[in-house]
Amino acid sequence: MLKLVVCVKAVPDPEKADRIKIDPVTKNLIRQDIPMVLNPIDKFALEAALVLKEEKGAHITVISMGPPDAASIVKECMALGADKGILLSDRAFGGADAFATAFTLASGIKKLEEFDVVFCGMASSDGATEWVGPQIANFLDTPVVTMVKAIEENEDLTWTVRADFDNGYRRVKVQLPCVFTVTRDLNTPRTLSFSGIIKARKKQVDILGLEQLGVDPEKVGAKGSPTIVSDMEITSNTRETTMIQGTLEEKADAVLELLKDFGSIG
Ligand SMILES: Cc1cc2nc3c(=O)[nH]c(=O)nc-3n(C[C@H](O)[C@H](O)[C@H](O)COP(=O)(O)OP(=O)(O)OC[C@H]3O[C@@H](n4cnc5c(N)ncnc54)[C@H](O)[C@@H]3O)c2cc1C
Repeated sequence: MLKLVVCVKAVPDPEKADRIKIDPVTKNLIRQDIPMVLNPIDKFALEAALVLKEEKGAHITVISMGPPDAASIVKECMALGADKGILLSDRAFGGADAFATAFTLASGIKKLEEFDVVFCGMASSDGATEWVGPQIANFLDTPVVTMVKAIEENEDLTWTVRADFDNGYRRVKVQLPCVFTVTRDLNTPRTLSFSGIIKARKKQVDILGLEQLGVDPEKVGAKGSPTIVSDMEITSNTRETTMIQGTLEEKADAVLELLKDFGSIG
């Protein structure tokens, strides 16, 4: 049976984005008072695993690194059909950059007996570096295909996937075990059902800290993060609007004059 892992991140609710603040010193997100939700694109990663489970039979483990209340998003994934849920949570994991996040998640995945495919979203809605998936693959020593939009062949241990590429796509053959980061084109995520929520009540989220992972404290959290956000600036997107009045000919003449003033035409 296929062993699938889905990485899911708890992010501040994008619909409450106006309440998100950034600590001026650490440049970390100030998350208090903003409800945490499942990173939107991770629903597509989970759906890919759920479809494979229905079509071929699979065991799905959902894994997240985050604060204790991130357990609720792991539970949500179990209500949607995941078999096992793991939350990596410890004060030592706080302040992680993408590198330390990937190291911690890969350490959690290595604790599983085996895995065939690790699904990640392409990007989180808060950090959005798009590095976590590829760096997990690096720590697990597996191939990675980013921006997967379709799984075309999955009969044996070499799968063919279609992945985004500028204005076209790449068709990639990849050997399992591997990591995929997925786009929103891959599928249509299902919504929570009442029976799923009831079934998930009996399921337990396994919470693993530094000790249970057995990793070097210097390699996780802020200590294990080689990058820091040193500066940030909000840029203005406002545009000046000039209303042109008059007949059609007068408006066309006025536009020509404006274009000349801007140096766009001679
Ligand atoms: C404004 C801002 C700028 C930042 N800039 C940088 C930077 O330049 N460099 C840097 O290293 N860090 C940066 N960070 C920190 C970084 O966002 C977090 O450390 C984050 O945990 C990892 O990266 P990401 O959210 O960008 O993930 P992405 O790589 O964008 O996420 C892709 C996928 O990885 C999986 N994933 C990501 N995080 C988790 C998790 N905690 N648990 C489970 N699955 C997960 C999900 O499937 C997700 O869809 C920044 C944070 C902020 C708020």
